[in-house]
Amino acid sequence: MIVAMQESATEEQIQRIIEHLIRMGFSVHRSTGARQTVVAAVGARIDFDIRNLEVLPGVQEVHRISAPYKLAGRSFRPQGTQIRFGNGVNIGGQEVLVMAGPCSVESREQLFNAAEQVAKAGARALRGGAFKPRTSPYSFQGLGVEALKLLREAGDRFGLLVISEVMEIAQIASMLPYVDIFQVGARNMQNFNLLRELGKIKKPVMLKRGIAATYEELLLSAEYIMSGGNYEVILCERGIRTFETYTRNTLDVAAIPILHKLSHLPVAADPSHGTGLRDKVPPMARASVAAGADALIIEVHPDPDKALSDGAQSLYPQQFSALMDQLRIIAPAVGRTIA
Ligand code: PEP
Ligand code: MN
Repeated sequence: MIVAMQESATEEQIQRIIEHLIRMGFSVHRSTGARQTVVAAVGARIDFDIRNLEVLPGVQEVHRISAPYKLAGRSFRPQGTQIRFGNGVNIGGQEVLVMAGPCSVESREQLFNAAEQVAKAGARALRGGAFKPRTSPYSFQGLGVEALKLLREAGDRFGLLVISEVMEIAQIASMLPYVDIFQVGARNMQNFNLLRELGKIKKPVMLKRGIAATYEELLLSAEYIMSGGNYEVILCERGIRTFETYTRNTLDVAAIPILHKLSHLPVAADPSHGTGLRDKVPPMARASVAAGADALIIEVHPDPDKALSDGAQSLYPQQFSALMDQLRIIAPAVGRTIA
């Protein structure tokens, strides 16, 4: 950490900062120039808040050099993290994993139809919400455990991994037998109690970025899961809230290369929630693969116009299949293949 003192800072104020840093456990290196003094603090502490220094008299600015997260940071595993699944599928390697399926599991017929078509088009994982976080309490809330059973059965039938959202701690145990990947939704990115519990399980967790979360906040949430011992975390950019109203959310494509720089964890993109508009999903899926995404999660419904949730952003199966053909052309341009 670097503390730049104001030109007008007194020797007393500088000493106060130095003592404060020493008390916090840092070793301190002072550099006094012609006009200004700069204090460099080196040490193992990760849990300090730079604002505690910024507010002290005589301080001009404080810069943090080391990241506030350890396990999620790139330097923890510079070569990157790969998550391998039993069926040979791998996230974070050369292949790009495509996860697809309906927003919500609505019926056996709907799910099996979706699963068959996404598998035929080349998806390797089936998505489907069993517990749905809906903005309105009057909207469809999901079929719960019944949906999980259908997901497992459809996943096994068509050779697909299963990913579904967990909304609360009490659901973890009931989901464990059925899902391969736990999804933490945008609304729960900072549900720290839930994250801690997911740190204790032995299945991968896909952590979606909150609608107004910074990269640092996303990585600190990943750190909650990892600090419990579960290192299999996938970060997911799913669009953030901006001033733009044309789209449902603004897919921050830059998050993909930036998270790769900051972290060793695989990065997924969700162009469905990231745009909210069916015809904007394929271009943003293509852009995400071009930007280096390790995985995509895409909503596909056999009859989107009748969907109980997120119909407007759900692809028709033929659209998904055409998108997969395009992705197979784009991926090699960036040194990847579609799983
Ligand atoms: C979903 O995947 O259907 C979902 C609710 O996602 P998010 O948490 O990104 O809104
Ligand atoms: Mn959805």
